[in-house]
Amino acid sequence: MRESGPKDRDVNGNLCILGIESTAHTFSASVVTEKEGILSDVKDVYLPPEGSGIHPTEASNHHSAVAARVIKEALVASGKNGQDLDAVAYAMGPGLGPCLRVGAVSARALALALGKPLVPVNHAIGHIELGCMLTGATSPLVLLISGGHTMVVSCSSRMWRVLGETLDLTLGQLLDQLGRYVGYSSPCGRRIEEAASRSNRYLRLPYTVKGNDVSFSGLLTAAKRLVDDGEPFEDVCFSVQESAFATTVEVTERALAFTGNKEVMVVGGVAANKRLAEMLSVMVQRHSARLSVVPIRYSGDCGAQIAWTGLLAYGAGITVPVGESIIRQSWRLDTVPLPWRTSA
Ligand code: AMP
Ligand code: MG
Repeated sequence: MRESGPKDRDVNGNLCILGIESTAHTFSASVVTEKEGILSDVKDVYLPPEGSGIHPTEASNHHSAVAARVIKEALVASGKNGQDLDAVAYAMGPGLGPCLRVGAVSARALALALGKPLVPVNHAIGHIELGCMLTGATSPLVLLISGGHTMVVSCSSRMWRVLGETLDLTLGQLLDQLGRYVGYSSPCGRRIEEAASRSNRYLRLPYTVKGNDVSFSGLLTAAKRLVDDGEPFEDVCFSVQESAFATTVEVTERALAFTGNKEVMVVGGVAANKRLAEMLSVMVQRHSARLSVVPIRYSGDCGAQIAWTGLLAYGAGITVPVGESIIRQSWRLDTVPLPWRTSA
């Protein structure tokens, strides 16, 4: 990866980037520009059979099959052509190896064919930067809750610093694994939320906060036991949401009290959950802070996260030569410098 200093806006006053996302279940491509924002965002999501989770090889076969069409549709919908692009961005990681490889290969091929630079993007930072762009948050305390992450982070000295995270399952994995236990196919969060909304009967479940970290594996085991004992599934879903979200809100509140942020932003697929937003909004009001929730359309994985963060990174001079454009299955966001964040 190279940093060559900020790109000269006078040469091209409106950077235009195509971004490719392929870290897990979603293959997506998007075109963004500096001035107009998101021009297109096309996705095709791999759906595993009922009762199953994501099988990496099958998901990557899906991605290979749809990649060319999705990229073409994103370009056509944006009204741009390949030569209008300044660079091609791709999700370098973290994610599932076989899936990441399809995105990386597609991006390399496009960059080589068009003679454009390649920009590597950290997927988790993609969730955060697109959330900031869409909600207008500038330097918020961020709750990143998705299939791959459950983290509370705050930006300091141009790096996201982790103030709390899960020690085992992510919130998304907790909900998906509970759903799969009763035969749903991943992702299950929306169906769990629907089931939970039909109940207000709380069944006692473990509540695990260690330091400022959370843990959900004991909660999942206890919830499965309740299902086995014949408790109504909506009561189990309601109770799992109440317990898991309460621990998440607790660690977010402690981080908020510590940093004194006045903005809390929630991003990631689980940000679509209305009960969680309700609990967070009660908490942030106590601290006279503002809560921003990423719009549902962009809460899950999408190309716009990669394209927009790629635009910020390319504007700060970050590119990677094709020959060095590896993938990184485990690439923590707190190891990535953010040269475009000039104020934090
Ligand atoms: P991502 O990895 O960001 O694409 O997010 C996917 C995760 O979000 C999956 O684990 C889904 O089950 C979860 N999810 C999606 N919608 C909801 C919802 N309404 N409530 C809770 N979780 C959700
Ligand atoms: Mg994600």
